[in-house]
Amino acid sequence: MKRDGENKSLWQDVQMSNATNENQEKTYEVIIAGAGITGLTAGYLLQKAGKNCLILEADNIGFGSTGGTTAHINTFYDAQYDQVIKDFGEDDAKLLAQTGPEVISQIKKIIADHQIECDFEDRASYVFSLDKKQTEKLDHLYEATVKVGLPAERVSANPFPIPFDKIIKIDGQAQFHPLKYIKALSEEFLKMGGTISLGQKVTDVSEKDQLVEVKTEQSNYQTQDFIWATHVVPNINRMNFLAAPYRSYVVAFTLQSDEYPKAQAADLCEPYHYYRTQEIDGKKYIIAGGEDHKTGQEENPEERFQNLEEYVRDYFDVEEITHRWSSQFYTPTDGLPFIGKSPGDQHIYWATAYDGNGMTFGTLSAMMISDLINGKKNKYEQLFDPSRLNVKAGILDTLKESSDAVFHLIVDKFTAEKIKSLEEIKSGEGKTVSYEGNTVSIYRDDSGTLHAVKSACTHMGANVSWNKTEKSWDCPCHGARFDIDGKVLNGPATKDLEIVDLKE
Ligand SMILES: Cc1cc2nc3c(=O)[nH]c(=O)nc-3n(C[C@H](O)[C@H](O)[C@H](O)COP(=O)(O)OP(=O)(O)OC[C@H]3O[C@@H](n4cnc5c(N)ncnc54)[C@H](O)[C@@H]3O)c2cc1C
Repeated sequence: MKRDGENKSLWQDVQMSNATNENQEKTYEVIIAGAGITGLTAGYLLQKAGKNCLILEADNIGFGSTGGTTAHINTFYDAQYDQVIKDFGEDDAKLLAQTGPEVISQIKKIIADHQIECDFEDRASYVFSLDKKQTEKLDHLYEATVKVGLPAERVSANPFPIPFDKIIKIDGQAQFHPLKYIKALSEEFLKMGGTISLGQKVTDVSEKDQLVEVKTEQSNYQTQDFIWATHVVPNINRMNFLAAPYRSYVVAFTLQSDEYPKAQAADLCEPYHYYRTQEIDGKKYIIAGGEDHKTGQEENPEERFQNLEEYVRDYFDVEEITHRWSSQFYTPTDGLPFIGKSPGDQHIYWATAYDGNGMTFGTLSAMMISDLINGKKNKYEQLFDPSRLNVKAGILDTLKESSDAVFHLIVDKFTAEKIKSLEEIKSGEGKTVSYEGNTVSIYRDDSGTLHAVKSACTHMGANVSWNKTEKSWDCPCHGARFDIDGKVLNGPATKDLEIVDLKE
């Protein structure tokens, strides 16, 4: 199964369905763009509720971050409860704390109803501090987690072999194999009469006379309701300023011993490291992640993998690093995801900016939007409203992210290295360069063939930069990514980079 990067994740051996409905209609009750956990859960719930749904997927099922996740299903989030209490108030923090347990119950119900084999397991999660500063943070996190009503307790041992200053345990977490789970969702969706059409990138949607017109590169459709379940909302919109794209790195490894703790854990470094175990086809792994950075802003992503590998080798009796991969997530400037009606629209929905908590928030989005489309009230509607502007929480980060984007939009334009000859690009190397008066992004593959594209990102025009480890062109402005021949891998761009024909 393909993913939006060159490295293979631990999950990718799952064979996804190619099912498309040959007799595709042009009108549906609900159209969903994106077949990751958000789109497939939404499709499943809405089709089950009697809606005739079409899922349009630009690539293949699981192509996005659901294929590159680490699949913890948590009830505490990257936006820690102490911060949420400060920024949104105690009542909203308590409301937020209800989301995780509800999502886990929903996932358990779907698994039980269809006897899905997806390695689902209940887990406790441990959070630990490494120094005094982190301990202060941990104390705040602990007190706030208890205050919002989640089962946190102070403990004295770390199930993972990592020294710590203080540690807490939060019960009621879970995990699964994300692609086995969404494969089953897709199959149940199809069985109920839903349609999935692969290789269909949605390029534009607009509301007219109570209907939504949906354009893909191949077709036009009409629908009563439309959901952007594409992780990032494509094209130019307010989310460009309210969420920032990050790359995050993961390694999976086996141990010389058989000491695989049945637990999850994370430290409080910035960015933090996290650990969990997973068994696939009888083989046990430890998954460790971290080393996050803004997309397109790391010159040497290989070093991030090396740091992570060195870090885990310091603590674990590593037998073999079996997998390493990176993937993308989007951090909201005020800490909470944006889920619900797109600002100014009645029938177009957004589900985005989940930070590193998209198993929970992707499922929650599907539950919420399914309620809204079915005319039911949802208690979280206001908390996650995409029209909100939380001045207290997000304004400084919004300004910071916006000025960072503008910086890359303008400054990177003047910094492309000048080359005189294409021979200066060696095999395996990718560079955005100035060549014969044009700014071109060139990659020479291992067989010596050149792949060249125009450097200006088709979203807002910033120059893309080379991601050596995932072999992609990544935009430092809003995180759009393209493959070596310019094909969109991640939005918000929807248009491919133009191929440049260079003669050697
Ligand atoms: C390294 C890493 C580890 C993570 N670990 C966790 C974790 O442990 N727990 C957790 O809760 N979250 C985690 N996350 C976050 C989580 O993986 C994501 O938030 C989640 O997978 C997003 O799911 P999604 O369905 O919304 O988007 P995706 O899985 O990205 O799916 C979007 C789909 O939309 C398609 N698409 C895009 N544009 C278009 C278009 N224009 N038209 C049609 N289709 C389109 C894409 O091809 C893709 O298949 C992690 C993220 C990273 C990067």
